[in-house]
Amino acid sequence: MFDKLRSAFSSAVKSFGEKELKASDIDDILFQLEIALMESDVATEVIESIKSDLKKQLVGTSVDKKEIEGFVKNSLIKIISDLFDAAGTIDIIEKIQSKKNAGEPCIILFVGINGTGKTTTLAKIAYLLKENKFSIVIAAADTFRAGAIEQITEHANRLNLKVIAQNYGADPAAVARDAVLHAKSHKIDCVLIDTAGRMQTSRNLMDQIEKITKVVKPDLKIFVGDSLAGNDTVNQAREFYQHTEFDGAILTKSDADARGGAALSVVKITSKPVIYVGMGQEYADIRPFDKKLFLETVFGEGLSMVQPKPEPKP
Ligand code: GDP
Repeated sequence: MFDKLRSAFSSAVKSFGEKELKASDIDDILFQLEIALMESDVATEVIESIKSDLKKQLVGTSVDKKEIEGFVKNSLIKIISDLFDAAGTIDIIEKIQSKKNAGEPCIILFVGINGTGKTTTLAKIAYLLKENKFSIVIAAADTFRAGAIEQITEHANRLNLKVIAQNYGADPAAVARDAVLHAKSHKIDCVLIDTAGRMQTSRNLMDQIEKITKVVKPDLKIFVGDSLAGNDTVNQAREFYQHTEFDGAILTKSDADARGGAALSVVKITSKPVIYVGMGQEYADIRPFDKKLFLETVFGEGLSMVQPKPEPKP
């Protein structure tokens, strides 16, 4: 996993180890880092911010030659760690439990483009919640794409869960509202709402999702993005965020992701956390996003995130 991102950072770290910190050398190495990060699917905004943060830490700092490598590595780790920390975290289980304690169903809306793994991800979350002993109803609110209702129903049947559905062309907001009413009258803990992933135009799609949001007022809006889709995922995250202000993201297909930039990019662009990552095609193949594991995968084992910054030399 994440081989590209790992080699991008490690070659930047090594090049610094071989140089004195002259401004021209810094620029040269930051440029190499930029190219490598672009190849790892890291979005331009993220690259610019990593470069400028790193430059700020390096310029005017005189570090012993043998300490430079560790210094750059720790600087990069800190920059990325701070980025994830600033987005905060979301504990879905805790959220559902607190709504349950208040006697209310927790309403979770899934948004994202077709083909990213949205339906499978909704089913994985349903499985996870079932494992945590919550009761669940699914709303088949993608009434646009042929086959969408059957697809979500098949997952629900396998998981032995109820689906609220209407016909194709029905108002998705009405389907979602029916599911919420069903949950309230049957004391069901959570409502998982599938939504369309494509419509005649992107505007139609966003309008439809906004309408569902107004009608059912979800407790959580989750964007599902494909970690393999590079810039497309970044652009989708940006657009969905503008229209839905989602609370967090789930990135699918992380098991096949050799680049690793998606999480960094989506978090930077939306300032919202990645909550889970998809790790395969089975229902159990979903893991909470783990910042420490991410950093270890990218920067290697035995990270020390608390190494002191070397003192500037007089
Ligand atoms: P949707 O159109 O966005 O609803 O996408 P689907 O849920 O139908 O998923 C599209 C394909 O991606 C299916 O073949 C899924 O099995 C696969 N998929 C979804 N999530 C993952 C994942 O985390 N890892 C892998 N390897 N495949 C996944």
